[in-house]
Amino acid sequence: MGESWDAVVVGAGPNGLVAALTLARAGWRVVVYEANQHPGGGTRTEELTLPGFAHDVCSAIHPLGLASPALRDLGLESAGVTWIQPDAPLAHTLRPERAVMLERSVSATAAGLGVDGKAWTRLFGSAVAAGFSLTDSILAPLARPVAHPISLARFARNAVRSAESISRTSFCSEEGPALLAGLSAHSVLPLSAAATAGVGMLLGTLGHSVGWPMAQGGSQAIADALVTLLIQAGGELRCAQRVTSLQQLPPARAVLCDVTPVQLIAMAGDQMPARYRRSLQKFRYGPGVFKLDWALDGPVPWQDPQVARAATVHIGGTLDEVRESELAATQGRISERPFLLAAQQSLFDPSRAPAGKHTLWAYCHVPHGSEIDMTSRIEAQIERFAPGFRDLILERHSMGPAAMQAHNANYIGGDITGGVTDLRQFVARPVASVHPWATPMKGVYLCSSSTPPGGGVHGMCGSAAAHSVLRHAAKGQLAG
Ligand SMILES: Cc1cc2nc3c(=O)[nH]c(=O)nc-3n(C[C@H](O)[C@H](O)[C@H](O)COP(=O)(O)OP(=O)(O)OC[C@H]3O[C@@H](n4cnc5c(N)ncnc54)[C@H](O)[C@@H]3O)c2cc1C
Repeated sequence: MGESWDAVVVGAGPNGLVAALTLARAGWRVVVYEANQHPGGGTRTEELTLPGFAHDVCSAIHPLGLASPALRDLGLESAGVTWIQPDAPLAHTLRPERAVMLERSVSATAAGLGVDGKAWTRLFGSAVAAGFSLTDSILAPLARPVAHPISLARFARNAVRSAESISRTSFCSEEGPALLAGLSAHSVLPLSAAATAGVGMLLGTLGHSVGWPMAQGGSQAIADALVTLLIQAGGELRCAQRVTSLQQLPPARAVLCDVTPVQLIAMAGDQMPARYRRSLQKFRYGPGVFKLDWALDGPVPWQDPQVARAATVHIGGTLDEVRESELAATQGRISERPFLLAAQQSLFDPSRAPAGKHTLWAYCHVPHGSEIDMTSRIEAQIERFAPGFRDLILERHSMGPAAMQAHNANYIGGDITGGVTDLRQFVARPVASVHPWATPMKGVYLCSSSTPPGGGVHGMCGSAAAHSVLRHAAKGQLAG
């Protein structure tokens, strides 16, 4: 690595690539070092099962990508990304014969929720009407001035509550609570935790405002587009280069690390001031995931045919069932009926499977580092809502927490969000600071989902880190 650069980025996940691209477009000479053979981190697509079946290894569905202020203006579409919008953003299997649907419009969703429809409109109507000005403020904490303070304050009043508490006070049947519970379970927190309603409300609002799209051909298309744009801007990417120490990097004005705190501590060694190391050591990681991908002989035979209108399916039953499954994962237990986050991409994107065949992607939350094989429990849960599913399986591929971490070193113990995102670690991510992307080490920055606003394919962490670098460089005060 014997040359010199303006910036070195460690890790070619969406945040690392957005950080690199932002700096390259500002005229900086940038190189990205990626440990894996291929770039993309959480946006990879591979033939995990059989030839001709394209599976999203990690992320699959991209409401955050479409809404993100960082990705919106980059021109991903000009570099090959085609967004596919399914008929409905989301189906939640409540009972075998009854799914509740998150539709594109608030009114259509409300109509499908029966007596809970009015409460849904009250919760989501004004947030959806506020549009990007609201979601930009949520996705860009600390980085941008609040554009729509009244809508944000109204949203925050409910968002800081738990999904359980909002459900108990707002809804009167099983449908509204189940739909909100599934959305809120993306927080990977117990549904009684503060601000879990906020995660559900953000994802629901995005379903109504931008949809829950997927990238044609797979999430890899997003990574490939970012790499194309980076190279067009003069940047370089070097794969199969695992960085074990910051000392091995070539000289640069700034180093931006798309890694989590525990990896930064290892890479920095003695270079990291003891006080900052102690703060980073307090950063908490959360539950892991157990994921399955299937090659199928046909579409999933959902008992309620409505489910086939959505690419994303929350397989979980009532609020109480979802709550129990999520609680188990945080308490070190296994749920016998795990709440599943599933995606059936091939129904809407024929490029994912040979003609007449299909793919299915699903995972559940499990205790941090769990070694328990969830395959039979996951398949039983799908069979409950889609009798005959098992008969369609041509091949399956499984990844528990250890396999996840082997695939991507950022998934510590299988945690896919870069660390617990409870209210405390949303604000102090990874440490309490108005410049959480900067470190006390000269020119060294963090740019991964362990910084605000956290997990998801939105590139906001990378964008904010790169803008910090540019601001600090303009003042002659790079980190440290
Ligand atoms: C199963 C699963 C499902 C998901 N579903 C969704 C979804 O549907 N929608 C969504 O928005 N998000 C989803 N996510 C989350 C999303 O993928 C992540 O939040 C996102 O990828 C984080 O981006 P990042 O750039 O911070 O880190 P990552 O994407 O994790 O990238 C980090 C990169 O750094 C590299 N790296 C690490 N250490 C080193 C080193 N020492 N040297 C060099 N390179 C290194 C890694 O190899 C990796 O390429 C999912 C994740 C998983 C695992």
